Amino acid sequence: MKIMPLLLICCVLILSACDSEPRARQAKFYAFGTEIDISLYDVDQETANNTIGILEQTFSNINNTWHAWQPSTLSRINEAIAAGQSIAIEEDVAQLIALASSLAKESQHLFNPAAGKLFELWGFHQDNWFESHPPPSEEDINIWLASSPTMDDIQIENGELTSLNSAVKLGFGAFAKGYAVDQAIAALRQHGINDAIVNIGGDLRAIGSHGKRPWVIGIRHPRKDGMIASIALHNDESVFTSGDYERFFIYEGKRYPHIIDTRTGYPADQAMSVTVLHNNASLADAAATALFVAGDNWPKIAASMGITYIMLIKTDGQIEMSPKMVDRIRLINNHKPVIIRSEES
Ligand code: ADP
Ligand code: MG
Repeated sequence: MKIMPLLLICCVLILSACDSEPRARQAKFYAFGTEIDISLYDVDQETANNTIGILEQTFSNINNTWHAWQPSTLSRINEAIAAGQSIAIEEDVAQLIALASSLAKESQHLFNPAAGKLFELWGFHQDNWFESHPPPSEEDINIWLASSPTMDDIQIENGELTSLNSAVKLGFGAFAKGYAVDQAIAALRQHGINDAIVNIGGDLRAIGSHGKRPWVIGIRHPRKDGMIASIALHNDESVFTSGDYERFFIYEGKRYPHIIDTRTGYPADQAMSVTVLHNNASLADAAATALFVAGDNWPKIAASMGITYIMLIKTDGQIEMSPKMVDRIRLINNHKPVIIRSEES
């Protein structure tokens, strides 16, 4: 995923610069430890510069509220849960937690943002998560598994959040980028910008078009340099990929990717990458993570999450797609037949 969308978008923009009236602009800044690239069409330079200020504010607010291991609204909620106490929460915070709960339920808890303690055991909730460190002991994983926290343990009533299980620790890393992209698009629209891409480290949502052409994005090959596919996006679509190739740590020669199957306590290992297309970026992000964990069972989980555009690359390199994705995606240099799967097949 990552990087290549930027390259392809760059290609599109270079093309546009050859037009008699070049009207595409790009801007970038850093947030969430990654590069955020904004592509805008048909705006002047001043408007382009102003959007950066607006979006930096949007991302900074989200970071302050939802950071999983630095002081934040979320860390205060987690402290209350660990102490067995209820805590008063604002309406917008309640809404996001309710959204996480419904996505978790639809994914049969393969997307399990209540498993923050497990992500912590694996060392993923710290700034230097990518440095080599031992995996957790089997005993610690078994103790965590016995406590079995899920979003079903969370109750919100009259602005008060209570957890029925003190082992719940919320961590929204698996859909925070999607949520941030949705907020960013809403902010752009409020400022009258209707043709744009917000790209967060390769995952993105695109609205409108690039003039008469659609926005076209690339999907990075999970094992080789370069792209595996491209997609021309319709009016408002998000493309999110979860993979084993970007965020992982290595200990004694073994690679431990950061998406965990919370049923076993260990990293999910049935896929190299899962790409999801959906207009809502929060849902696309949560679903990419859930389907990565689902592995072979992805058609069933996709159906229960209402996702119809999926490409999953298995660990042996076999590409599987949903019927609708086949019609939309253009594979590059693919020599192997794609397996088309849906819940019925
Ligand atoms: P990326 O940011 O690379 O796109 P994801 O969206 O899949 O990856 O998010 C992975 C992060 O989410 C991990 O670092 C961890 O904090 C958390 N996480 C890992 N496994 C799960 C899971 N099964 N459900 C919910 N969150 C998860
Ligand atoms: Mg995700």
